[in-house]
Amino acid sequence: TDDRLLTASRRPEDVDAALRPKSLDEFVGQQAARENLRIFIQAARGRGDALDHVLFFGPPGLGKTTLAQIIAREMGVGFRATSGPVIAKQGDLAALLTNLEDGDVLFIDEIHRLQPAVEEVLYPAMEDRALDLMIGEGPSARSVRIDLPRFTLVGATTRQGLLTTPLRDRFGIPVRLQFYTVEELTRVVSRAAGLLDLGIAPDGAAEVARRARGTPRIAGRLLRRVRDFANVAGVETVDARVADAALNRLEVDKLGLDAMDRRYLHMIADIYRGGPVGVETLAAGLSEPRDTIEEVIEPYLIQLGLIARTARGRFLNAGGWKHLGLNPPAGSQD
Ligand code: ADP
Repeated sequence: TDDRLLTASRRPEDVDAALRPKSLDEFVGQQAARENLRIFIQAARGRGDALDHVLFFGPPGLGKTTLAQIIAREMGVGFRATSGPVIAKQGDLAALLTNLEDGDVLFIDEIHRLQPAVEEVLYPAMEDRALDLMIGEGPSARSVRIDLPRFTLVGATTRQGLLTTPLRDRFGIPVRLQFYTVEELTRVVSRAAGLLDLGIAPDGAAEVARRARGTPRIAGRLLRRVRDFANVAGVETVDARVADAALNRLEVDKLGLDAMDRRYLHMIADIYRGGPVGVETLAAGLSEPRDTIEEVIEPYLIQLGLIARTARGRFLNAGGWKHLGLNPPAGSQD
């Protein structure tokens, strides 16, 4: 599904860096998270200490990487980034940690995908700022402890529950990121249009925002495609009509659903009469991995109230039927 226009995962054409807010003030939305971070940063700076370790969790594209960079900038320290699957061996992580400078932020994306052996190196590093290395093998092996500079680990993951308990417990500052409101995304789109040198009317920005699945990364991507249409059509200022025409051509519907979402909804409606249907069955029917269904497709459909995820399986809600322009079968659950 990574070839979907609406996937929130990063795609090669996402020039995320250009649109990234550089300070907490510039960062739109996530008000609770932002206010808490501001206080923790101020307090740590006041004490001349490193910030406590931070765990960001929430769907892709909501600003986890961006906030990690902002933390480093506001703390006035260096920023190093890596990701869970990239760190193959204990030694790789040890090398990263010993190369940090005092106070640095180390960002580990997809931290739930660390190898267990690598994860174990993190525990003393996070807790005691120390590295326990084994020297030698067999009976003469011994462990030496190396002190590390002060650092802040910023981890990112899609769901908090994916982390092992010992790892999760070592983050002093867990932060859940939420989908953005249309109003917030409208501000994200207007700001991005300014950076892209694209004229956009408030109703044009709102139209893009409504169809961006609560996700700034998708808003930025849709805006770039809308810009292409506007440029080719010789349109100076994108209004709601221009945005709507462009997004319809891209097959992004009024709620921001694409063909895959609609196939998912239709499968529950047409084949399973609105559910319940198990996720494995849906995955097989759609030829998509279960993870993709659960992490990419469903969260936004749940957020919109179109479907419900229960222990017995997935149901289409009244809103789901309505969006498909169908009536629930007589005698159905809803
Ligand atoms: P994540 O790490 O959660 O996948 P990123 O931090 O990489 O997401 O953000 C994805 C894109 O969305 C970037 O281009 C970033 O500039 C933009 N973005 C994220 N959050 C915001 C925000 N609050 N305001 C403006 N742009 C944002």
